[in-house]
Amino acid sequence: MIVVEAVSKWYGDLAVLSGCTTAVARGEVVVVCGPSGSGKSTLLKCVNALEPFQQGQITVDGTRVKDRATNLPRLRARVGMVFQHFELFPHLSVTDNLTLAQRKVLGRSGEEARRRGLDLLARVGLSAHAEKFPGQLSGGQQQRVAIARALAMDPVVMLFDEPTSALDPEMVGEVLDVMVELARDGMTMMVVTHEMGFARKVADRVVFMDGGEIVEDAAKDAFFSRPRSERAQQFLSKIL
Ligand code: ATP
Ligand code: MG
Repeated sequence: MIVVEAVSKWYGDLAVLSGCTTAVARGEVVVVCGPSGSGKSTLLKCVNALEPFQQGQITVDGTRVKDRATNLPRLRARVGMVFQHFELFPHLSVTDNLTLAQRKVLGRSGEEARRRGLDLLARVGLSAHAEKFPGQLSGGQQQRVAIARALAMDPVVMLFDEPTSALDPEMVGEVLDVMVELARDGMTMMVVTHEMGFARKVADRVVFMDGGEIVEDAAKDAFFSRPRSERAQQFLSKIL
């Protein structure tokens, strides 16, 4: 579903990604972890073309991200993204947040978009909040709306960048529960997180990054029981 081949990226002289190669198969859940500044967010942003990269190739569902002929808005519509800071439109109701892109990008009718939005709102357990504004919801609720909004576009893959790290601890669980359910439903997911409980529960593989490199790319059990590199061992000993 996602193929990343020898991707390198620099900001001026600073190499932020160096020869990164990995892949996410259909239905697979890959957790990306590593120290701050290791390039995790940059890698994710390259996958849905929010950031350019100088070398290598990324393919999403058969479409080359860097190809001139690629329709980027269409590509991004098929790649759901959820960030650390829930980026709901503050001046729109929850329902309008859920329906706007469906109507504008996918050309769905108001009725169709509303039906799909409300279905997903129910799925994340927030049916009672459809007419509220984001500011009237807790952080955990806003993040669940953000997930529902991304799902409303019927993405072929979902990217998450530390979706729970800005939340109060008591709200982390409710967001992770939604993500666990999504994973179990077979969604293809690439998730930057340090929630190793989540990784243990649903990840198929773990990618460990350091200094812009993919240092390990291993099956979950192999990663947790015997990380090969010293850098991953050190990282794990700090966060587990
Ligand atoms: P964190 O865990 O803190 O979110 P990360 O692994 O997501 O870190 P990135 O945000 O991908 O790391 O950043 C990788 C490197 O790229 C860092 O050294 C960062 O300072 C640098 N960087 C990111 N964005 C820019 C930018 N717009 N201009 C210059 N350097 C940048
Ligand atoms: Mg980051």
